[in-house]
Amino acid sequence: MQISTGSSELRDITKMERIGVHSHIHGLGLDERLEPRGNAEGMVGQAKARKAAGMILKMVQEGRIAGRAMLFAGPPSTGKTAIALGMAQTLGSDVPFTMIAASEVFSLSMSKTEALTQAFRRSIGIRIKEETEIVEGEVVEIQIDRSATGATKTGKLTIKTTDMETIYDLGNKMIDALSKEKVLAGDVITIDKSSGKITKVGRSFARSRDYDAMGADTRFVACPEGEIQKRKEVVHTVSLHEIDVINSRTQGFLALFAGDTGEIKPELRQQIDVKVAEWREEGKAEVVPGVLFIDEVHMLDIECFSFLNRALENELAPLVIMASNRGMARIRGTTIRSPHGLPVDLLDRVLIVSTKPYTEDDMRQIIEIRCREEDVKLTPEAATVLTSMAVSTTLRYALNLISCAQVLARKRKVESVDVEDLRRVYIYFQDEKRSVQWLKEQQGSLVF
Ligand code: ATP
Repeated sequence: MQISTGSSELRDITKMERIGVHSHIHGLGLDERLEPRGNAEGMVGQAKARKAAGMILKMVQEGRIAGRAMLFAGPPSTGKTAIALGMAQTLGSDVPFTMIAASEVFSLSMSKTEALTQAFRRSIGIRIKEETEIVEGEVVEIQIDRSATGATKTGKLTIKTTDMETIYDLGNKMIDALSKEKVLAGDVITIDKSSGKITKVGRSFARSRDYDAMGADTRFVACPEGEIQKRKEVVHTVSLHEIDVINSRTQGFLALFAGDTGEIKPELRQQIDVKVAEWREEGKAEVVPGVLFIDEVHMLDIECFSFLNRALENELAPLVIMASNRGMARIRGTTIRSPHGLPVDLLDRVLIVSTKPYTEDDMRQIIEIRCREEDVKLTPEAATVLTSMAVSTTLRYALNLISCAQVLARKRKVESVDVEDLRRVYIYFQDEKRSVQWLKEQQGSLVF
């Protein structure tokens, strides 16, 4: 592709960045009973692993999991990363999800344990509640909590008004409605401002999502007499790492944008932990344990593994998901060989989920999904050939060829990629097996 400053080229580049290798994954594709649906939310096959991932997610969502770790173990391109991303999508934006490749931990700018600590603290959310006065003219969402009066019902009202008196008036009408059994918990209702008529508009009260859309959790609190107080509760979720950075640098949150966080002093982290504990005691904050995904975990060394063992003991630990495509491998930093390159004491505390090689039909379906995602058409013959290529090489290699073949098809000014385009890109780009073969043949002439 030609890169220039012209706007059309710029648009192309933006689009290419957006279509990442996992951009077709929108969840785990499970039903309410956590059973995998055939081809759903971009996910195909790997039923057992998806189901296991769904069970772990359920525990995370119920807040029952801290200090747990799981390992996806399986051959390359069997969907370990894809399933982890599916988990992240299911958790939603309110639950922190951090993804690192183990080799990122080794850098000159910070120690390994500092890099891991930052990754851990990025994966722990703190939901902070603040009460502020409602300013006239705000668009507010009202939730009336009847638990203050002994009842358990909750209603919700969205109004747009500049007049505080109207807000109180509508809120009080809603309290009436709740007490007259017209409105059930979870109903979304609207109240006509002039007539005061209450209309139900649905029962899909997706709490966090609704609040997300507003950028804040805004609610009125009903006092026992049924009056509405002129207060609102604003909730935002930040990660522990963000709190660390904002407090550790003179430039505060700007460091977050610059990505220049540097090392953070342990004393400062302790102070922050104490402060967060105080906020929790006072009911001002809640901890939202998130997920830390460490890809290629066998690239960590023995010191990192000891750190992980200790960090998982912490009360505030996130769920740690690891992935490895290694079988028996040397634990880095030692001469010991161990399954997946992980020390046995760490292996002993993780739930291991294995991913299996895909069937030909699974591969065909994944290729189809990726073609749709990348907006590429294949002729039926090309689809068959690409699937056989995936079977004899790897799925990832076949997926990589899709966009390359499209470049050739475009040059031929045809709409669909055909077998000839695939044949040519297969010659231009080697898969891993052929590359190894080539290396063997070149041994005399290459520098090793
Ligand atoms: P590695 O061990 O090499 O890191 P991996 O097991 O993490 O491999 P992925 O990167 O998840 O493999 O999968 C390779 C490609 O196939 C990605 O584009 C991924 O989105 C896609 N993919 C894998 N499994 C599935 C699946 N079950 N459904 C849909 N797409 C999948």
